[in-house]
Amino acid sequence: MHLEPCNPPRPRPQSAAQPGAGPSREKPVSVSTAIQLISRGEAGFPAPATTCTPDLARDPWVFDALPLPDYGPGASMHDPVPPTTPRQGELPEEFRTASADDLDRRILAAKETLGESVVVLGHFYQRDEVVKYADFVGDSYQLARAATERSAAEAIVFCGVHFMAETADMLSTPEQAVILPNLAAGCSMADMADIDSVTECWDQLTALFGSEPDADGRRPVIPVTYMNSSAALKGFCGEHGGIVCTSSNAAAVLEWAFERGQRVLFFPDQHLGRNTAKAMGVPLERMPLWNPRKAWGGTDEQTLRDSRVILWHGFCSVHKRFTVAQIEKARAEHPGVRVLVHPECPMPVVDAADEAGSTDYIRKAIDAAAPGSTFAVGTEINMVNRLAAQYPQHTIFCLDPVLCPCSTMYRIHPGYLAWVLEGLVEGRVPNRITVPESVAGPARVALNRMLAVRP
Ligand code: SF4
Repeated sequence: MHLEPCNPPRPRPQSAAQPGAGPSREKPVSVSTAIQLISRGEAGFPAPATTCTPDLARDPWVFDALPLPDYGPGASMHDPVPPTTPRQGELPEEFRTASADDLDRRILAAKETLGESVVVLGHFYQRDEVVKYADFVGDSYQLARAATERSAAEAIVFCGVHFMAETADMLSTPEQAVILPNLAAGCSMADMADIDSVTECWDQLTALFGSEPDADGRRPVIPVTYMNSSAALKGFCGEHGGIVCTSSNAAAVLEWAFERGQRVLFFPDQHLGRNTAKAMGVPLERMPLWNPRKAWGGTDEQTLRDSRVILWHGFCSVHKRFTVAQIEKARAEHPGVRVLVHPECPMPVVDAADEAGSTDYIRKAIDAAAPGSTFAVGTEINMVNRLAAQYPQHTIFCLDPVLCPCSTMYRIHPGYLAWVLEGLVEGRVPNRITVPESVAGPARVALNRMLAVRP
């Protein structure tokens, strides 16, 4: 497992990349700074750089105060928000109005006071202004595992999104409190599959196929959930003979499921499911899409009977932005460019890329490349920007020329981090994420099945 330790936490210089504006590395700015520069029309910022919405320049607490839940500006801003989505209460004014330097001093002072009793985790997609305080940077599963390795930490501050904090809570000890600095940092993809809709689908599939194994002992359907899902869905998989997967081990997990079942119900990300199963030789016509808003998922009985993988109608709005046209443009403008994309991208994009793999795969591929390589990367802009800064010997740019970060990662700002850390110093535990044992128990069963699978 690779993790990037940043301990002791020291502010790092802003990134050397030029986000969203092609491969040049002339302007050393973070994604958040670039957004502010673009919003002010600051001279010197290259013409192609633009954002998907001017609202990105506003502070996240503006969106926390809206009367209806909202994913906020960024890639998920047009996705419907479930009414049950957690809301963040008002951030105290002193944190909303503090300058960046003030917040920096307060965060570092609180971390100093808390010492080993707190660990701050930063996801690859989190903004640089928050990641610079992280003790570890990684993907969701790496960070959840990192939390378990810091047994002295009474508080785990997870600068990621809600399902990641839930996983960290399930894998950490009961004495450890997992804290999400902004409760509105959910995940639009995870929200696309809720426990009620999946249970309804499961009941329909059970009515169609029954629940008895065939002559080879294979059950009619094995549920497989992507790590990017609620704890309730991980628990559902644990209770129904299913398993969890990550983008690193999805093929090995599908192999596991095919050994035990005639078909797989894969949720919530249709693209990861389709890309993985296709690479394993499953024909597209045997991968029907299940749309929970339609009768019989919008498919039919015979198609379901012939299926090998039933794909839930979910997607990541960050990775859905990447297109084949962007890849063609990158190849035309940068002969020899290596195109790396995440398997949450749509199938035509994965097919047109040179390689598809998890965030860790992308990082390792760049790390192992000969100096002077050029990469066009299809994943979240904060990670691409950071890679460009960390590997100045390469030319690294995001396939998408428009700055459009993950809406929910963007809900975490240094102001919230300062607020939760100072709360801990004062003996309070703000924004604790707790998964009830009735859910966590079966979810751990599904997670442990995944751990037993060798990728
Ligand atoms: S990048 Fe996509 S899958 Fe990841 S947290 Fe954001 S919306 Fe969810």
